[in-house]
Amino acid sequence: MQKLLTDIASTMQQENERGKVADYIPQLAHVDPQRFGIAVALPDGQLFTAGDASEPFSIQSISKVFSLTLALGKRGDGLWSYVGREPSGDPFNSIVQLEHESGKPRNPFINAGAIAVVDAIMMRHEPKEVLAELLSFVRFVANDESICFDHEVAASELAHKHRNASLAHFMKAFGRLEHDVDKVLGTYFHQCALAMSCTQLAHAGLFLVSDGVNKATGTRVVSAQRARRINSLMMMCGHYDGSGEFAYRVGLPGKSGVGGGILAVAPGRASIAVWSPGLDGTGNSLLGTRALEMLAQETGWSVFGH
Ligand code: GLN
Repeated sequence: MQKLLTDIASTMQQENERGKVADYIPQLAHVDPQRFGIAVALPDGQLFTAGDASEPFSIQSISKVFSLTLALGKRGDGLWSYVGREPSGDPFNSIVQLEHESGKPRNPFINAGAIAVVDAIMMRHEPKEVLAELLSFVRFVANDESICFDHEVAASELAHKHRNASLAHFMKAFGRLEHDVDKVLGTYFHQCALAMSCTQLAHAGLFLVSDGVNKATGTRVVSAQRARRINSLMMMCGHYDGSGEFAYRVGLPGKSGVGGGILAVAPGRASIAVWSPGLDGTGNSLLGTRALEMLAQETGWSVFGH
């Protein structure tokens, strides 16, 4: 495994085509597209890494896996009145389906859906309290107390909020958001601004590898059924309108973020995190996907065969 990761990292470091770093959040535009990290965490506690695996980056939409998990814990199946479970086939920040579907977002991983999930989690609490709970949950699943929000990234996204603000106001107009739009958005931007390294993310994904239990720490996070369902949502919706392509090429549930990270889950085998800041046309990490494709090919890991 160590040799494979070293090979993948050196192959990716030599690539000239690296995609385009997200610049609609100005703070993310400063990130060096040459960075590349990969980490593989196994249920027995072993960890393999290569490249910039210990460098924290903005996890952005990968955070939606953790907010979904928290929301299911608080709301159970009641969450599905806020948000659906179908792939959208549209870009992550699209507004078009919302009008046709009376303001109910297709799934928890597109922006509109994640904003609805934040609304579901808030339950009349202030953003500060909600964010403290989310942070302590992420620290718990990753077993790492050093994880923090990057407040500069959150402020940068807030200053350029117009697209997400449109989605939130549109949902509010349909009576879909219970809380104040600005409070929901402020919470959402901080959630997306969580900074984590590939190593921390790979650890945080371990509960999805072993039916809800982080075997490395011996703690149950969710039921087996819930872990399987979260994986199914990652498979179908985790890469927006690039989800089919990701399933075809990598064959594992995965969740991407515009910071260039991807968390992928090989059930029963490993939790994998990659980071390469350059994105493809669907807003997913170009080399991150390629690296996962290489890893899946070499290991044979796939949910579609054995
Ligand atoms: N915070 C980002 C946004 O709302 C998250 C998008 C993403 O990572 N795909 O635009």
